[in-house]
Amino acid sequence: MEVVIVGGGTAGWLTALIASARHPNHNITVVESSEIGVIGVGESTTGLFTDILLNEGTNFGCDIQDFIVETGSTIKYAIKHRGWTNNIDDYYIGPIDGSYTANGTVGVATDALFAWGLNKLNRENLLTISQFGYWIHQGKSNFNKFKNNFLDTFSHAMHIDASIAGKYFKKIACKRNNISYIDDEVVDVKLSNGYIKSILLKNSNAINGDLFVDCSGFNKVLMKHLPNKWISYNDNLPLNSALPFQLKYKNDDMPEPYTTAWAQKNGWMWKVPLMDRIGHGYVFCDSFTTADKAQEEIETTLGQEIDPIGVIKINVGRQESAWVKNCVAIGLSSAVFEPLEATSIHCTIVQATNLFGEYVKPTIEDTLNSGSMSIYNRRTRNIYEDVKDFLVLHYMGGRDDSEFWKYIKTGATQTEYVKELLEMVKSRIPSARDFPQYYGSPGWPLYSYVMEGINLLDKSKSLNEINFNVQEGDIEELTPMKHYELQQRWGEEAKYTYTYNEFIEHFRNLRT
Ligand SMILES: Cc1cc2nc3c(=O)[nH]c(=O)nc-3n(C[C@H](O)[C@H](O)[C@H](O)COP(=O)(O)OP(=O)(O)OC[C@H]3O[C@@H](n4cnc5c(N)ncnc54)[C@H](O)[C@@H]3O)c2cc1C
Repeated sequence: MEVVIVGGGTAGWLTALIASARHPNHNITVVESSEIGVIGVGESTTGLFTDILLNEGTNFGCDIQDFIVETGSTIKYAIKHRGWTNNIDDYYIGPIDGSYTANGTVGVATDALFAWGLNKLNRENLLTISQFGYWIHQGKSNFNKFKNNFLDTFSHAMHIDASIAGKYFKKIACKRNNISYIDDEVVDVKLSNGYIKSILLKNSNAINGDLFVDCSGFNKVLMKHLPNKWISYNDNLPLNSALPFQLKYKNDDMPEPYTTAWAQKNGWMWKVPLMDRIGHGYVFCDSFTTADKAQEEIETTLGQEIDPIGVIKINVGRQESAWVKNCVAIGLSSAVFEPLEATSIHCTIVQATNLFGEYVKPTIEDTLNSGSMSIYNRRTRNIYEDVKDFLVLHYMGGRDDSEFWKYIKTGATQTEYVKELLEMVKSRIPSARDFPQYYGSPGWPLYSYVMEGINLLDKSKSLNEINFNVQEGDIEELTPMKHYELQQRWGEEAKYTYTYNEFIEHFRNLRT
């Protein structure tokens, strides 16, 4: 079968790698226009990205240490949220693995460690119920300095330079036997009975294909020729502009092991620490401020001038159907979100893995099964709807010090699910099963720290929740014992690993 992927950004090359690894007998052609180039932003990722680098489950041909050396990437364990409540000096750190029992304990859905920690630990120590949180708390990394490899645990995430990372995946992909590459611009699409038959290129011959994947970013080069509709999420997620910029480290400042999402008067600012520079950007809503004012606001916040790379308009939403006829949209052509929680590359990997792992078959006839296509579209729609709910919830901390935050406080942006969650937490602490669970879902591990961080959870109710779910007697003894045992175990492992700063120095030395 001939698979044609249009686009050579992170989405295009990751999709090509996943497709090639799962289907060595299909021919895959990637067409990208180096003249058009890539969007070049998108620096924070999730554990699924690292799974690819670690060749989890499939040999993609990646080497994570080469990747770090070549691209200057760093490890990410968490997101630090600053200023998301009325107390704008407040912050919380959400480790991306959640608590050790975040998926439930002893046959029930209760996150016993989290519920116990909520009641017994302060916010800083609440980190120590998560393995990633423990490393942050102790200033450690998960890189074993004696064995020269990462500990075999739930995958950490990475901070990456989006344009260089794409080139790394291109290099790996082009080594594979069944991937070929053309640098040219798609100028038109030839349809036959509503299906894409071929793509027409500016400088070379047309390319025929059986299955086409649109990874052309905001241009939506293929999907715009097919019957589809963009579903806007703007009513729920009103931030529609981004002002990216970069800063150098000052003096001896070192990268932090987390992304920072710092709420501002008209949106929020990201900070992504790479080996040699820091990626920043202000995501704001142009109904409440202008790009010039946004820049002024950030310069005041940071106490220094910035040099924005430009203004990027973001049309938050998704394709009504990711898969139409013989074309699937993946990456920014499929859905666009503000970068809070780094969901975009994450969803690219979910979409590509689901597609090529389960739905693409040896023949195009079996692949274009109408039931399969509907179910793939439903799964894709569900993850984007879940991401929307999750991001909307972040804004529910009650901040009201500007017109933007006052607007949010009216409740106008709340989705049905967010309304339900806000109501539910008045009488109980949620459990893992209150949240949709599937490959790539945000789920309770991520929701838990966000809900605690914006003060939605009633600490006094937390122990009742576990007592109700866990056998009598267990809670008082087993949960603190489990916490103690984990601290011992993680502490023992940490004797063999670099501190986070040593990890940075180690790889900085390898880069020179
Ligand atoms: C402000 C901002 C911040 C972001 N931050 C994050 C983040 O922290 N984490 C995260 O996961 N994601 C983030 N994202 C999303 C992230 O940038 C994308 O998921 C990622 O870069 C992949 O983009 P892409 O490959 O879909 O599109 P692009 O990088 O735009 O690639 C599109 C490709 O299609 C090609 N192309 C386009 N038109 C044609 C044509 N006519 N013919 C041939 N080729 C064509 C281009 O040349 C390019 O190769 C952010 C996005 C924005 C806007």
